[in-house]
Amino acid sequence: MKYSEMLIPTLKEVPSEAEVVSHQLMLRAGIIRKVAAGVYTFLPLGSRILKKIEAIIREEMNRSGAQELLMPALQPAELWQESGRWGEYGPEMIRLKDRNGRDFCLGPTHEELITEIVRNEIRSYKQLPITLYQIQPKFRDEIRPRFGVMRAREFIMKDAYSFDLDEEGLKVSYQKMFDAYSRILKRCGLEFRAVEASSGLIGGKKSQEFMVIAESGEDIIFYCPKCNYAANIELAQGENKVILEENILPMKKIATPGKSSVEEVANFLNVSPGKLVKTLIYQTEKGLLGVLIPGDRAANETKIALSLDLKELHLLKEEDFTKYNLIPGFVGPIGLNDIKLVADKNVKKMRNFVVGANEKDAHFINTNIDIDFKVESFDDFTFVKLGDLCTNCKVELKEMRGIEVGHVFQLGKKYSEAMKAYFSDQKGELKPFVMGCYGIGVTRLMAAIIEQSHDQYGIIWPFSVAPFQIVILPLLTDSLEQKKRSEKFYHELERLGLEILYDDREVTPGVKFADADLIGIPLQIIIGKKLNQGRVEIKLRKTNEKFEISADDVVKKCREIVQKELEKLGDKSG
Ligand SMILES: [Zn+2]
Repeated sequence: MKYSEMLIPTLKEVPSEAEVVSHQLMLRAGIIRKVAAGVYTFLPLGSRILKKIEAIIREEMNRSGAQELLMPALQPAELWQESGRWGEYGPEMIRLKDRNGRDFCLGPTHEELITEIVRNEIRSYKQLPITLYQIQPKFRDEIRPRFGVMRAREFIMKDAYSFDLDEEGLKVSYQKMFDAYSRILKRCGLEFRAVEASSGLIGGKKSQEFMVIAESGEDIIFYCPKCNYAANIELAQGENKVILEENILPMKKIATPGKSSVEEVANFLNVSPGKLVKTLIYQTEKGLLGVLIPGDRAANETKIALSLDLKELHLLKEEDFTKYNLIPGFVGPIGLNDIKLVADKNVKKMRNFVVGANEKDAHFINTNIDIDFKVESFDDFTFVKLGDLCTNCKVELKEMRGIEVGHVFQLGKKYSEAMKAYFSDQKGELKPFVMGCYGIGVTRLMAAIIEQSHDQYGIIWPFSVAPFQIVILPLLTDSLEQKKRSEKFYHELERLGLEILYDDREVTPGVKFADADLIGIPLQIIIGKKLNQGRVEIKLRKTNEKFEISADDVVKKCREIVQKELEKLGDKSG
């Protein structure tokens, strides 16, 4: 393409609305423009990049045996009512009525729709397994759309769904998708990690997230530097460093006037917060629940709900405390007769700890489980924190930030059973399909690549997803020689199948350099004064290295570089 004929509205200033680098650079490089909060247009450059990323995804999906289809964004409410999610999904779902008053939504995901297709079209085990995928827009009415396309209300997603005879088959289909995702992210030039994750509203047993490692990431991941263990903070498990055994002391009630928070009590007693045990009272569909956790840890409600199989879990409101004879700030496990008590596994190791005495201005010290009170069970009910050890190899866990770009789930029979999607097996018996689902945020992936690959001058696209692989920059606009040579390079390189942006604009060299760096074309051919000695420069955007080479070698050299760089990314098509 000739630059002068293309719409690339670059901006010099950093737009004030953009908080993260990828958002700033996508606006500045003329890749996107905002239409409404969380709603964006992809301008020609952005559209080219999207097509490149989508092509990689398609190739790897097809290589894994998945088949592409295209489902509508507009979905009837009846399907969501069948699965039960019409009620479960909150205000994130964009709902609308047609002219006849019939309810619809704009699909935030497509489990219901794909299950409807498969239950109608697939009858026999002979047609299984099958994995279907699509690349199309999704809608989620985010409470706070932000970070540009990273948390948008309309975004492009690749979603795939696998259907198998049984759990064994699901594991095979899941692994194929997992491997395809790994290849996709590698080809996009990304440093990433697959981590254990919570299934949330989608449901199912096992799920893993693909995290692109980036400082600006919204997700916190804990990982073990020794083994492969990595998990989202919601699910990450670790264990306390070994606590020295202490002799068990007799429990004693002491006055703690006006001291109710962990910090106040710890300061007052001159002990560390880790010496206290908090008793949190939750309201659940199964009645009140008391959860004991160490004073220096935070309760993890995802883990509590999963462990105890609870659908509802809310901290008891302070105004409701008196109803149950509880005293805010002084609740403790002793004397809580009608409340089911469970404890975080870290409490099991604690000796002689401090708890509330269930009376105003008093705590017990030297409290011990099984001596002073009992709990029904122990499990992991808290968030890990730095200093915790890997449960496998007892090495200290490390923390990093990441951007979730993909999520794979083993759904099992959740949707097929709810929606009565059955096939007949070898014996002619009807069985529910065993499902998996797999998503990649395509537009988010674009932002994640920029978060990981940029410098102070702009974006640095990996060759595999760059809108153009090479930009030709003749510096003197009035030099006929430079113009002729640029056009020659342009045509020869395009003939080789390379993607070229030829900057034929009548602007200063400074503007051309700045724009080329900003929009991040990975290879630059700079044609300047030395052309009359038969020399030109080529520059690698990634390292900002410049080489002077003979003008006669440019085409050959550029082709070599592009091929080599694509091969490094694991792209066989380059
Ligand atoms: Zn480990």
